[in-house]
Amino acid sequence: MIGFHTDAFSANYAQARARFLEAAEKAGLAVEQHLHPFRGPAGEDLAMDVARDGPADAQAVLLVTSACHGVEGFAGSAVQLACLRDAGWRGYARARGVAVVYVHALNPWGFAHLRRVTHEKVDLNRNFVDFSRPLPANDGYRALHPLLLPAQWPPTPQNEQAITGWIATHGLAAFQAAVTQGQYEFPDGLFYGGTAPTWSHRNWRRVLRQHAHAARRLAWIDVHTGLGPTGVGERILAGRAEPQATARARQWWQTPWAPLTVTQDGSSSSAALHGELWEAMYEECAHAEYTGITLEYGTAPPGRDAGGAARRPLAGPAPAGRPARGRRHPPAHAGRLLREHRAMAHPGAGAGQRGAFPGRGRPHALTPGPPARREGAAAPVSRARRRCRRHGDGAARFPAGRRRSGCRPARRART
Ligand SMILES: [Zn+2]
Repeated sequence: MIGFHTDAFSANYAQARARFLEAAEKAGLAVEQHLHPFRGPAGEDLAMDVARDGPADAQAVLLVTSACHGVEGFAGSAVQLACLRDAGWRGYARARGVAVVYVHALNPWGFAHLRRVTHEKVDLNRNFVDFSRPLPANDGYRALHPLLLPAQWPPTPQNEQAITGWIATHGLAAFQAAVTQGQYEFPDGLFYGGTAPTWSHRNWRRVLRQHAHAARRLAWIDVHTGLGPTGVGERILAGRAEPQATARARQWWQTPWAPLTVTQDGSSSSAALHGELWEAMYEECAHAEYTGITLEYGTAPPGRDAGGAARRPLAGPAPAGRPARGRRHPPAHAGRLLREHRAMAHPGAGAGQRGAFPGRGRPHALTPGPPARREGAAAPVSRARRRCRRHGDGAARFPAGRRRSGCRPARRART
C-alpha cells in the first residue's frame, strides 16, 4: 500500500511538473521530456515527461499516466508523486521485476490551461481512431449539438427543457452515450475526436514504442477525474473486453468495495467510447499481454468545490453511493449529468464562472496562447529542473506577458 498524503497535490501544472522532476531526480531516475510546441499560461514549458523506474529490458512494465484530460491531471500527478516518493512501493515493484513507467501529463497543454482538451481542441481519449477510414458516426450527438451549444449562454430554461425532453424520450443512458462517446463532425462541439492524431497522440505512441514495445506483460493505470460519486475511484477496464484480460484486471484491481466495471457491458459510470488511448496498446505492443484500467475519481458537482474534492486523500472510508458489483453508480439526476458533461468540457460553466479563464467562450474554445515554439520531440533530459530564486522551487509564477528572463533562473539543465 502506497503511503498517500494530501501534499502530493499541486496547485497548478507548473508546480506539479517541477515536483515530478524533483521527485524523479531524488529517486535517481532520468526523465525524458517530450516538449510541447506551446507554453503554459505563465510562460512555463509544457512537456510530456517520462520517468522509468526499472531496467530497460524488463519483461513486465506498469505504465502510470496522468492528465489525459488536461485539467484532470491534479489527481494523477499526485498519485505519481506519491509513488516516486515511496521507497517501499518502489522496492516492491523492483523485487518483482516490474519496471514502472510514469508518464506525467499526457496532455500538458490542457493541464496547464485547466482545459479538458488538447491545444488542437480535441478530446485525446477520442482521438485514437483510424483516420484513414470513415470516422465513427454519432447521430445522437448530431441531434443534440445545437441544444448542447446554444447561441445564448447561459442556456435558457427552454433549452434545458428541450434537453430534458430528449432524455425523457431516449433515456439517460442514450443521452450519456450520444454526448460522451465521441463525435468527429463538430470541431466546436463536445467530446470532439479530431481529424488527425494530436501532438499528445503521437507522443504517447512514441512512449509506448520506447518503453513498452519489448515487454511481455504490460499493465496500465490511467488516472482520471470527473465521473462517479465524489471521492470514489472507479476501476474501469481500459481495453477490449476480452475474457482473459478482464479476469486479470479483476484479479489485480478489484476489491469488495471497488468492483471492476466495464463500459461495454454497461456496468461503468462511463459510456462505451470511440478512439480511446488503449487502442494504441494493441498496435504498438501487439505481442504483450496487456491489462489496463482507467482509475476515475468522482469529483464534486459543478458549482461546488470540485478541485477540493479531487485533492482529498484517496485513503479512508469511501463516501456513500458506492456502486454494487456489476451495477452502475447511483443514477444521476438528468440535470446533474448534463451539468457534469458540460462542465467536463467547459470547467466553470456550471458554477457561473464563464469568462474566468482567458479566451473562454463556448465550450472547447481555444485559449489564446503564445506562438508555437517548436515541434515536440523526445529530448532525453536527466535531472532537469528549473529553480527560480524569486519565486521558489520551479513554481514558475511568471507574470503574464512578462519575459521569463526577469526571473533569474538559478539553474537550467537541459541536454
Ligand atoms: Zn478523463
